[in-house]
Amino acid sequence: MTASFGEYGGRYVPETLVPALDELEAAWRAARDDEAFWAEVGELGRTYAGRPTPLTVAERFAPGKRVSLKREDLLHTGAHKLNNALGQAVLARRLGKRRVVAETGAGQHGVATATVCARFGLQCVVYMGAEDMRRQRPNVERMRLLGAEVRPVEIGTRTLKEATSEAIRDWISNVETTHYLIGSCVGPAPYPELVRELQAVVGREARAQHLEREGRLPEAVLACVGGGSNAIGTFAGFLEDEGVELVGVEAAGAASLSSGRTGVLHGARSSILADDDGQIVDAHSISAGLDYPGVGPEHAWLRDTGRVRYVTATDEEALRAFRRLAETEGIVPALEPAHALARVADLDAELVLVCLSGRGDKDLDEALRALAALEA
Ligand SMILES: *Cc1c(COP(=O)(O)O)cnc(C)c1O
Repeated sequence: MTASFGEYGGRYVPETLVPALDELEAAWRAARDDEAFWAEVGELGRTYAGRPTPLTVAERFAPGKRVSLKREDLLHTGAHKLNNALGQAVLARRLGKRRVVAETGAGQHGVATATVCARFGLQCVVYMGAEDMRRQRPNVERMRLLGAEVRPVEIGTRTLKEATSEAIRDWISNVETTHYLIGSCVGPAPYPELVRELQAVVGREARAQHLEREGRLPEAVLACVGGGSNAIGTFAGFLEDEGVELVGVEAAGAASLSSGRTGVLHGARSSILADDDGQIVDAHSISAGLDYPGVGPEHAWLRDTGRVRYVTATDEEALRAFRRLAETEGIVPALEPAHALARVADLDAELVLVCLSGRGDKDLDEALRALAALEA
């Protein structure tokens, strides 16, 4: 069990999964070094997903600052998740796997997975917590329209943690035919690295676009952190620019980095929400995509090295930023990146780049109800 990121990462999985992870790792290493793989992923990004996404200046959102929004909300299916799903679908085909399983929280990863499975003619099974199915009904309907089977998970908090466990269980039983298309930079090696490299296009584009338009790099780069994939993809573009401050924003009720401890969850050692006995503590966030008690192992390492600072935003702060972006810029963000937007005003930096990881259509009902309750 080699750790991938300092003491974090590794593979904490049942023996039955080791051959599948070895096979995936070999295919990934070959693909990573193969220009044809990146050419195919790049072509799909351009002609199917809508890359490059624009970098928009938010003129009115934060007075006194110049904020650039990396518009992953404009990507096909409405969030950054498709970058990862497309790349893994290409990899699954290389592996000869015709069946895909996935877990989903907000439903965005389920939609991205169902989308690429439709595009490539792969059988698709998505596990989703029953509570999340209630919160994200339109995404459930979309997945079914795309031909995916959505399996409700009725155990525990009936959210992403249990859905992930069920997806892993399915993979163990069907490992010969099935690729597990994990939705964030979590899980056993090589997933955290694989997902980072597939999302790194976000940071690469954002850096080049910012340099071209502003003539310099941003002083600070912010992204919300659930499992951590939009953040790691964004940060990947700037990790070596020492003068650029990197800030990850977690939901206050699901702050695996800010108030977690070292432990193992879903196949990797990372920073997790657990009690003194190592039992997982239930996360809470108004945003289903951040409602997860773990985080990608690379983030735990980046926290410890000090390269990235991790802070939190409450449900209320995120809701206010959600409405503020709508009112000042005409953009309805997903509740997840609204957490990152909520921290912009506190920064010393004036030149700020935020990853707008997804659009808010899926959150309208929940957000409007919660805003009405705040103001009542
Ligand atoms: C899923 C999701 C997130 C959280 O996932 P990460 O892996 O942390 O990026 C953030 N924003 C949006 C729009 C999402 O759909």
